[in-house]
Amino acid sequence: MKRKEFLRNSGLMIASLGLGGGFQQVKATQQSTTYQPQDANSFPLYDLHVHTSQSQTQEQIVEKAKVNGIEMYGLMQNVAPWGIRTDEDLKKHYESVKNFPGFIALQPVYIGWSKNLSKETIDKFDYVLMDPQWIPNMNKYGDQGEVWDHNCYVPDEEAFMERNMEFYLEVINNPEPLDIFGWPLYLPPSIARDYYRLWTKERMEMIIEAAAKRGVAFEINDLARTPHAEFILMAKKAGCKFTFGSDTRDHRTFRLDYCKEVANLCGLTRDDFYIPTRKERR
Ligand SMILES: [Zn+2]
Repeated sequence: MKRKEFLRNSGLMIASLGLGGGFQQVKATQQSTTYQPQDANSFPLYDLHVHTSQSQTQEQIVEKAKVNGIEMYGLMQNVAPWGIRTDEDLKKHYESVKNFPGFIALQPVYIGWSKNLSKETIDKFDYVLMDPQWIPNMNKYGDQGEVWDHNCYVPDEEAFMERNMEFYLEVINNPEPLDIFGWPLYLPPSIARDYYRLWTKERMEMIIEAAAKRGVAFEINDLARTPHAEFILMAKKAGCKFTFGSDTRDHRTFRLDYCKEVANLCGLTRDDFYIPTRKERR
């Protein structure tokens, strides 16, 4: 059977998901996991990772959510050298978002982010998401790796994966507040073609085990189109929760095409999702 026919006959919508090389892995998982595609109404249509920008105000986000039938959404702000750095910054930011009707959240980008902030101010926010995309000492040249950028320089795939794994576990096990692990499994553009080979079962299990132990949810990232179905099914089996996150700041906000497709493919239901608690605004 030709590959194309096989995919069409499989009825798994793999082709439309662009999962390509991961097909064998998904197929293998499917045999050992209960697989029941759900209709989109069975999971929450929500987006916990939205930013404001020059082309998107808080008011526009609220309006877009109404138009798109999004039931919950979360406004994210970076704790970063280019964002919030001090408790004063954080207090000022809180004042600017406390009347936002959705969730308000923090996205730190480095370990040690809470050192200059007070617990009292951090606690005013509904949840914390961190992704592993800003990797210190990423390669043999000591570069600060910016995984999202095409300039991210990877001289050796395996050496990168070792350092990447080390940093993933550091982020998950870091004792600072963390509710959601963002951008899981996303790789630098230069090695992204090897995604299914580099993300071995063993590596995925290590990440899932650490997150399950700490009760950290995995973001299904709409922009990155990660993680893939096999990882989601493994994490679900381990009892992990998920979120939808677009990480958008413009007209792409609330599209969520990949999130909906892969959640449907994996049969995720409302119980599989992490729903934050909205704190009292003071
Ligand atoms: Zn973000």
